[in-house]
Amino acid sequence: MKTGLIEKYSKFLPAVDKKFIISLNEGDTPLIRADKLAEALKLDAELYFKFEGANPTGSFKDRGMTMAISKAVESGTRGVICASTGNTSASAAAYAARAGVACTVLIPDGKIALGKLSQAIQFGAKVLPVNGNFDTALEFVKKISEENNITLVNSLNPFRIEGQTTGAFEICDDLGRAPDYQFMPVGNAGNISAYWLGYNRYKKAGIIDRLPKMMGYQAEGAAPIVLNRPVEKPETIATAIRIGNPASWKSAVAAKNESGGAIDMVSDAEIISAYKLLSKTEGIFAEPSSCASLAGLIKHLGAASIETGAKVVCILTGNGLKDPDSAIKYNECELKPVSNEKEILQRMGLL
Ligand SMILES: *Cc1c(COP(=O)(O)O)cnc(C)c1O
Repeated sequence: MKTGLIEKYSKFLPAVDKKFIISLNEGDTPLIRADKLAEALKLDAELYFKFEGANPTGSFKDRGMTMAISKAVESGTRGVICASTGNTSASAAAYAARAGVACTVLIPDGKIALGKLSQAIQFGAKVLPVNGNFDTALEFVKKISEENNITLVNSLNPFRIEGQTTGAFEICDDLGRAPDYQFMPVGNAGNISAYWLGYNRYKKAGIIDRLPKMMGYQAEGAAPIVLNRPVEKPETIATAIRIGNPASWKSAVAAKNESGGAIDMVSDAEIISAYKLLSKTEGIFAEPSSCASLAGLIKHLGAASIETGAKVVCILTGNGLKDPDSAIKYNECELKPVSNEKEILQRMGLL
């Protein structure tokens, strides 16, 4: 039977006493080959999407959360707290519910996708919208966790990053080696740091013999790493990466430099275009922020080339169903009811 990540990758992760493991059998997400999209992009390489939307709460956050919540339980925590653009709160709330631990989440007022908000509420977390953005919320939870013996489960929690290394392990296990390029969105920059750590750990263990170029993409209105300064009022439709002062800034830049990769930015228009292209060409539904990876690949191909036969992986960090409003907003759809066959055929374009 499939186990969770802590058991599966115990050799590569901090030890957790088995009786404290809190898992929803996360991970083991599909790596989907996308030949049609590669052809559409005139990319003469093997293109793959890592579909993290298949995790129990619909995003990669579950990889880190199983580790962070298990460790919190092992330490006898009083409760957990996080600031979140949505997916962290959904994941924290689920794992905390399973652990029987109180969970508080601070979210930026009015800027989180409805699916994510509904998850946190459904899982019984205390959900507190903050007057301010993600960065403001993070400052609050850092202070409250330090002063009240409550466990912070943002990616500042080192166990989150540890758990998220498993994404790299799975890709290498599936491909039989590391990819040549990995494209991914960058928000708080924990995930790019975790993937880089994971690849390096596998290389050190002799499981792979090369490392990918790490290609991270921020949204134009929230691109502090690209601009090399914090962004006070980050703005983008990609709410999961609407972050002006990333917690893992330094390690993300190190991952870029050490791998010979890049951290660049893509516009909201490019993100939406990639979001729609992915679904229409390959039948994969990922939330807009996730599609900064594909938008980044497309931008990269406009300026540089990728070697023939290279293995290219795009990380799709969260499920499209998290944010149904965006799908309806950014696609043309006429939902006026029909009442006879003629109207149906007309709308089908057959009359
Ligand atoms: C959290 C999240 C990100 C950003 O990841 P970081 O580790 O903060 O860089 C990107 N996409 C989705 C869907 C997320 O939930």
